Amino acid sequence: MNTLIKNALIVPMTKDGYTYRGDVKIEDGKITDNPNFKADKIIDATDKICMPSLVNTHTHSSMELMRNYKDTSPDLMSWLSEIFPLEDKLVDNDIKWASKLAMAEMIQSGCTAFNDMYFMQHNTCDALLESGMRATIGLTFFGNAETCKDRSKIHEELYSKYNNKGNGRIKFSVAPHAIYTTPAESYKLAKEWIIEHPGTILHTHMSETMTEVNGVLKDFGKEPLKYLYEEGVFDGIDVVLAHGVHLTEEEIQICKDNNFSIVHNPSSNCKLASGIAPIAKFLKQGINVALGTDGSSSNNNLNMFEEMHLAAMISNVSNMNPMATTPYQILEMATINGAKALKIDDKVGTIEVGKDADIILIDINKSHLTPLNDPLSALVYAIQGSDVDTVFCQGNILMENRKLLTMDIDEVIKKTNECWKDLLSR
Ligand SMILES: [Zn+2]
Repeated sequence: MNTLIKNALIVPMTKDGYTYRGDVKIEDGKITDNPNFKADKIIDATDKICMPSLVNTHTHSSMELMRNYKDTSPDLMSWLSEIFPLEDKLVDNDIKWASKLAMAEMIQSGCTAFNDMYFMQHNTCDALLESGMRATIGLTFFGNAETCKDRSKIHEELYSKYNNKGNGRIKFSVAPHAIYTTPAESYKLAKEWIIEHPGTILHTHMSETMTEVNGVLKDFGKEPLKYLYEEGVFDGIDVVLAHGVHLTEEEIQICKDNNFSIVHNPSSNCKLASGIAPIAKFLKQGINVALGTDGSSSNNNLNMFEEMHLAAMISNVSNMNPMATTPYQILEMATINGAKALKIDDKVGTIEVGKDADIILIDINKSHLTPLNDPLSALVYAIQGSDVDTVFCQGNILMENRKLLTMDIDEVIKKTNECWKDLLSR
C-alpha cells in the first residue's frame, strides 16, 4: 500500500535544528520522491510531528514478565540473584507472550527496532514476524565455554531459520551476557561465531556497576573492557556495549579507537543505583552513543520517550550544565545512532528518500505540547510515549490512531498475566 503523509511537521533527523512542514510519500515500503507517485491512502498530518521511529538499542524483551518484581533489592547483583532462579523456570509460552507484550509496548511508544538479549529466542522471532517490527536478536552466551559451545548448535539452527526473515527485519547479534557471568574464553567463542557469520554484531553488558569493575580488577588486575580488549575478544568485529557507566579514560579511548557503540540505559542505571554514564564525554569524543530501556524489570517500562527525557536530565545535572547534551544529540541517540550501532543505518534512523519507511506520527494537539515552540526540545522534554499516534515499519502501519493493527492487545495482556501466575506456581 502506498501512503501519503500530508502536511506534517517533519523532523527528519538529518541535521541539527532542521524541521519543515511537508509531505512524506511511502511507496513499496520506502520513502520516495517519485513524481508519478500515486497514494492508496492519505493521512492528514497537520497536527502531527513526523519523525523516524525509535531504536531501542538494549533490551531483554521477555523480562516483561518480571515487571515491578523484587524492586526492593539493594543492588544489581542481589536483584539478579532473585531473577535468575525464576528465569530457569521459563517455558516457550512465557517467552512467546512476554515478547508480544514487549512489542506492543514498544510500538505504542514509537519504537519499531530493538536490540534484544534473552533466550528461547525462536518465540521472540515468531512474535516479531507477526508484529511487523524489526529486531537484532541476541544469541546469548552465558557461562563457561563448554556451555556456550553447546548453545552454539542451537544458535546455528536459529540463525539459519530466521536470519533476514520478514523482508530483512530479523538480524542477529552474539550476546555474551557479561564478564561476571561469562568468562573471556566464551567471549572468544562469540567472536569466532561472528566472524563465521558476517553481518552479526557483538552485544554485551559492560562496566555497569562498580561491583563488576572491582571484581574484574581483583581477578585480572584490569578493568572489564580493558581486560577483554587485551584478551583480543573484540578484534575485527562490530561491538555494542550496554551501559559503560564506569569506563576509565583509557577504556573510553579504546571505544573511540575501535568504533565501539555504547548504549546508555538511564532508567535502569538510576533505578538500580548503578551510576550515571558520562554520555556528554562519550559524545564529545565522537563515540556512537545509542539509547536503550534495558529490560522492563529494571526500568520498569520500554518507553523510549521517557528514556530520552531522563537521559537529558541526568546528563545536565551531573555536569551542572543545562546544555551538556542537546535535545538533538539525545534524539540522535534514540534514532540514527541506534541504527548505526545495529548496522541498519542505511535503512532506518532518518527520514530520507530511499530509506525504509520506519516512521512515527506524534499528536501535538495536546495541552502539554502547547505552544510547541521548539519541536526538538518538545520531543525530549515534553512529549510522552502515549502521544505517538501512528507507527510505520517498512511502510506497513503497525498502529493507527493509537490502535494496534498487528496484535490483539487484550489477548496479549490476558495471556501474559496467565503466564506470570503459572510461572510463580512452578
Ligand atoms: Zn541489560
